This record gives sequence, structure tokens and C-alpha cells, in this order.
Amino acid sequence: MTATSGDDDPLALLHTLVAIPSVNRRLAPDATGETALAQFCSRWLGQRGFHVEWLEAQSGSPTLVAYAVGTGGGRTILLNGHLDTVGVASFEGDPFRAVVDDGKIYGRGTFDMKGSLAAMLVAATRATGSATAADDKRSSLRGTVVLTLVADEEFGSVGTEEALRFLASRRDLHADGAIVLEPSSLELTLAHRGFAWFELEMVGRAAHGSQPELGVDAIAGASALLPALDSWAKSLATGPLHERLGSGTVRVATIAGGVDAATVAPSCTITIERRTLPGEDAATVEKDLRTVIHHALAPISELTWDLTRLVVRPAFEANPHSEIVSAVRSAAEAHQGRPPADRAEPFWTDAALVADAGIPCLVYGVDGGGAHSDREWVTADSVVALTTILDTTIRDFCG
Ligand SMILES: [Zn+2]
Repeated sequence: MTATSGDDDPLALLHTLVAIPSVNRRLAPDATGETALAQFCSRWLGQRGFHVEWLEAQSGSPTLVAYAVGTGGGRTILLNGHLDTVGVASFEGDPFRAVVDDGKIYGRGTFDMKGSLAAMLVAATRATGSATAADDKRSSLRGTVVLTLVADEEFGSVGTEEALRFLASRRDLHADGAIVLEPSSLELTLAHRGFAWFELEMVGRAAHGSQPELGVDAIAGASALLPALDSWAKSLATGPLHERLGSGTVRVATIAGGVDAATVAPSCTITIERRTLPGEDAATVEKDLRTVIHHALAPISELTWDLTRLVVRPAFEANPHSEIVSAVRSAAEAHQGRPPADRAEPFWTDAALVADAGIPCLVYGVDGGGAHSDREWVTADSVVALTTILDTTIRDFCG
């Protein structure tokens, strides 16, 4: 095996990563998916002394677990980044050619999250000193460095789930701390909300529109339920509140019902989204929703309903005093000359799955903007800074 230079440049690598399309196929069916980017990263890491496991339980959505085993007696760190990007249908300019302008690098995925991926790859290589360790694939650190480069974060998170299943089967790769490298403007994201999606199907009885009294109007169920969900939303908004995340929410996302203008609607289906706070679990959230539905619909005789739980993802909350948070905080402060701010996000990330697997973690990544929009950029400075801060963090945590 040939070891490649240890001074890889994260910005040059970012240009290369952007040039390899990795649009999630579950978001854009004609996209090529993550395979080409996974192949590139697998080769890149292999050439630098990392063991690379290729996981692909879902065909066409590969996930990599790469690791450099330590000399022994140190802690294991996990760095997680996603390979996929959202689609490019209306992207301004060539989405797969990174363009530099005034300290910003434009292109699909620069911000979310190939900028962080480039920083993670170069930092892990520098910290493990693998340019000299390639022969026995052993890091110069005491602890082990594990990288998960996952598919499908932008849709169903099958990549992080598959990587965590793999890591759970390998006691030697058990992580003592993790960083999920979603963009965070080089601030420490220590909490975010979870979500739960439900589908409610209400079934009445069709009748001719001229004699509605002979039918059971399923849309009447929706009209009864909407104000009930509204008052639930108001009571959530007033507490109890989370100090960083504020309140949970509930709202109706879709309604579909009725067949034509002259028929009493025999059915009506509603999708309900509940955003949750740390400590709220699927069972409690569903029980509360069932109570609201029961009270709203009970007065409508003969209307039946069925509630299905679609997807439930837990909220995330880090221990601000955990070793991994402290390591990132002090590495960032050493590099930037001031302590990084703490923050919380309204949206969900794979960090909740990592934390749920019992691995202390935080979200920490680049600065920029335009995630999922038609103009996306990352600041070059933040990619370079992140590389240094991750390098320091790895050495501190695993040294
Ligand atoms: Zn992302």
C-alpha cells in the first residue's frame, strides 16, 4: 500500500467532492446516488491507511465505516458525515463545479455537507499520522478513530442506522464520543427537536349529496379535529418549555378527502406532524394524540378512525459537560481565541440516532448558507478552521 502525503488540502479536496454528484436517489429518482462518491472516499481513505468497510444493505445507498486502530489504551472517537445531497433541479449554474468568490465556495453540497466531509477526511488523516502508519494500518494515537460516511441522511437516515448496527456488532470500535458534522457555523449544537408523523384515516359513509342525512361525512371529522389540534398546539406553545428549544409543536401537514361534488365524503385522511422535545417518547406522543382525536371525533356518530404511526425520531440533547463536548470546545477556543457559542436547532439530525445508541455526541460543522436551496455556499475559512479544530480534537480525545 502506498501512503499519500499527510498534508492534503481540505479546500482542494472539497472541489473534488463537489465534482462527484451524490444526489439522493430517494429525493430525485433519476439521480446517480452516493455510489461514485463512496468509491472515491473509500479509495482515498484506503490509500491513507484506513480500514474501510463498505455497507450496502439498501442497494445503491452505500455507507462507509473507515477506521484507524490506535496503539491501545486510548478513547475511540466517531466522526459522522453524510455523502448524499439534495437535488439540483433549479440550482443556479453548474451544481457540480465548485466556484470560489470572495471567500465563499459555491456548489451543491458545499455547505450540507461536503465542506465538513473534506475537513473530516483531512483532519482524520493528519491526526492519525497515517502517512507513516499505512503499512500496518495502525494509528500513532492510543485511541481509535472511526469515520462513518453515510448514505441517505437527507431522506430516511438508512446510512447512519446501518453504520450504527455495524459498530454495535464490533466491540473493538465502540465509540466513547462522536461528532456529527452537519453545518453549525463552528458553534456547538447541543440540542435539537425530534419529530413524529402520523396518518389518521377517518371513514364515514357515502350518500347522495341531495340527501346528506343518509351518509356519514368524513370531512366533518376533519372540521371537528382541526380546532382541537389547534388548541393542543396553543397549549404546547405555552409550556413546559425547553431552555434552548422552546416548545414542541403540532400541525396538520396534509388533508385528502371526498370523491366528487355530489357525494358525501366516505373517507378523509390527515397527516399530522408533531415536533418533540427531549424526553418526549413515541408512546406518550401517540397516546396524547389519540386522546385529542377521541374527544374531537366521539360526537360524530358512526364515524370510525384509524391512526397509523409513520415515522418517529427522537429529539437530541447533549450533556454539555461530556468529554467529547469539552474536547471540541477547548480545541475551538484554542484555534479561534474565544469560546464557541452553544446553540440548538429546530430541525432534526442523525445526532439523535447516535445519541440513542448510547454514544455521547454533538453537532459541529462549517459556516455558510443556502442548504437545500438554489444557491449553496460554504466559507473557505470555516472549512480550514474545522480541519484544524477536528485534528486537535482527535489528538486530544484519542491521544
Ligand atoms: Zn446535512
